[in-house]
Amino acid sequence: TRSGLAGELRSMEGAQYGRYKSLVGRWELPGGETLELVRGQADPYAPPARVALHVPAQLTAFPAELWETPTRRRALASYLARQAAHAVRGEKALRVDAGGQEVLERSSCTVSGEDGSVTLRLGAALPGRGRRIDGREAERLLCQVLPGAAERTLRYAALEAEAVREFVETVEDSVALREALDGLGLVGFVAEGAVLPRRSGVDDRPATGGGVVPFASPEELRVKVTLPHAGEVRGMGVPEGVNLVVGGGFHGKSTLLRALETGIWDHVPGDGRELVVSRSETVKLRAEDGRRVERVDVHAFVDHLPDGSDTTDFSTENASGSTSQAASLCEAVEAGARVLLIDEDTAATNLMIRDARMQALVAKDREPLTPLVDSIRSLHRDHGVSTVLVMGGSGDYLEVADRVVMMDAYRPSDVTARAREIASVPTGRNAEADSFPGVVSRVPDPDSLDAEVRGRARIRARGEDVLSFGDHEVDLRAVEQIADPRQVTGIGLALELMVRRGMLDGRRTLAEALTLLDGELTADATSTLLTVRDEDFAVPRRYETASALNRVRGLRMLRR
Ligand code: ADP
Ligand code: MG
Repeated sequence: TRSGLAGELRSMEGAQYGRYKSLVGRWELPGGETLELVRGQADPYAPPARVALHVPAQLTAFPAELWETPTRRRALASYLARQAAHAVRGEKALRVDAGGQEVLERSSCTVSGEDGSVTLRLGAALPGRGRRIDGREAERLLCQVLPGAAERTLRYAALEAEAVREFVETVEDSVALREALDGLGLVGFVAEGAVLPRRSGVDDRPATGGGVVPFASPEELRVKVTLPHAGEVRGMGVPEGVNLVVGGGFHGKSTLLRALETGIWDHVPGDGRELVVSRSETVKLRAEDGRRVERVDVHAFVDHLPDGSDTTDFSTENASGSTSQAASLCEAVEAGARVLLIDEDTAATNLMIRDARMQALVAKDREPLTPLVDSIRSLHRDHGVSTVLVMGGSGDYLEVADRVVMMDAYRPSDVTARAREIASVPTGRNAEADSFPGVVSRVPDPDSLDAEVRGRARIRARGEDVLSFGDHEVDLRAVEQIADPRQVTGIGLALELMVRRGMLDGRRTLAEALTLLDGELTADATSTLLTVRDEDFAVPRRYETASALNRVRGLRMLRR
C-alpha cells in the first residue's frame, strides 16, 4: 500500500495517458480509506478503469446486527449502493451500479462479514486532455469526489438508521417467508395487500393511482405465516401440485404469474411485492423458436418426427416454438427445477393442448406432439415438480388441475369445486400419455468450447441480454427470470469460473457441475466471481447459468 496518491496525480499532469497504469495497486487516503486501482485504462476511449474504495470498520461503525448474516449484509450493501449511486450522480466519470427493484448480491458494494467494513467498486473514466493525463481532474475525482461520496453515503445511512433497518428487515422477512414455503407445502405466497402491477412494460416500479387493486386472497387458499419482523402475515398460498390460473383476458392472470416469477428475488421496501415469494427452484418456461437444442430427450413431448429423427436424443440449431418449449422444460428439470411457471401468452399452443376434435381429425400417429396436459400430473406425482399455469383459453386442464384460481377484475377466487364439476362431463378427449418419463442427464463436453474460451476464457455481456462466448453470441432474451442486466455479466463470470476451475470436465453431468458451482458461490459469491474479473455484476442463479450454457451454439453434450 502506497500513500500520496493526490501528489502523484498532480505530478502526472500532462503526462502520457498510458502512465495511469503505473497507479495500479492500493493507495491509502488521508481520511483512512484505501483506494485500489484494480485495472487501469489504456486510453481515454477504452472502457473505464476499475476502482475499489475500501472503508474500514472504524469509519463505517454499523451496529453488528446490520451485517451479521449474509442476508443482512446483502440488504445493507444494496441500500448503500443506491445511496452511493445517488451521491455520484452528477459525475459523468463515475458510475455506481445500484440495481433496480430487486435486492441482489452485486459487486458494486459489499459489506464484510468480519467487521462490517464496506467496499465500493465502480468504473472510473480517468480524465485526459487528448492523450495526456488531466492530473488535477483525476485528483478531484479519486481523492475528493469518491471518498466524499462514500462519506456522505455512510453519514446518510447513520442519519437514516430507521430506513436502513426497514430495508434490512424487509429483505430478511422475504427470505424467511420463502424458506417457510417448503414446510407449508407451498410453492408460492402472495400477501394480502400486495401490489402486483408495474408502472409499464419498461418501468418495474409499482403501478400507482386509483386503478390499482391490491391483492386480496381467496378464503380457501388463505395461509398465515409468522415472520421475524412483520409478525403474522396473511395471503394466498400456492400449493404444491398442478395449479391453474384462469379468467378473462386483461383480468390480471399474467401479472400474478409474473409476480411469482420474480418471487425468487427479494424486493425493496415500497415495491409492492416485498411479501410475494416463490421457491428458489422456480423456473419460468416459454416458447423460443430459433433457439439451439443439444441432445435433449424430448420424446415425452415430441416423437415420430416426419424426418425420422430420434427425439430421445434431440438436437437442432433452429427449434420450433413447441420443441423449444419442450426442451426448455426438460432442461429446467435436469438443472433441478421443482416448480415450473408457464403463461399461455408465451407458450406454444400445440405443446399445451390438443382437444377432442383435433384428436378426431388428426390421428395420433400423424401428430408428433404430445401435449403437456397429459404429463403434467405425472410431473408432480412421479417427479415432485409442481406447476403454475396461466390458461384462459382451454378447459382441457380443468381435469388435471389440483387447484383452479380465477382472476376476475384482478381479484382471485378459488373455483376448484366448480371446475371439477365441469370436468366430470367427458369431452371425448383421450389421454395421449400416462406419465412423464423423467429427464436424461447430459455431460457438457469441454473440448467443444472454443480453444480461445478454454485457454483464456472471455465471456462478456453485450447489451442487456446477450452474452458473447468466444465466437458465439448467446441470446438470453427468453430467459425471463434474469432480473437485472448485470446478472448477464454474472452469468458470464460464472460460466468462465466453471471453465477455468475445470468443473466441466467431460465426466460431470451438467447438474453436478451446477451443484459444484453453487458450492463455490455459497459462502461469498461476489469475491469468488471477482477472482475471474472485476466488473459490475450481480450474482445469478444456477438455472439462468444453465440456460445460458444450454444456448451456447457449438457446445456439445455427451450422454451418460
Ligand atoms: P391477463 O393476463 O389476464 O390478460 P394481465 O395480467 O396482462 O391480464 O393484466 C392486464 C392489465 O391489467 C395490465 O396492464 C396490468 O398492468 C393491469 N393489472 C393487473 N393487475 C392489476 C391490479 N391488481 N390492479 C390494477 N391493474 C392491474
Ligand atoms: Mg396474459
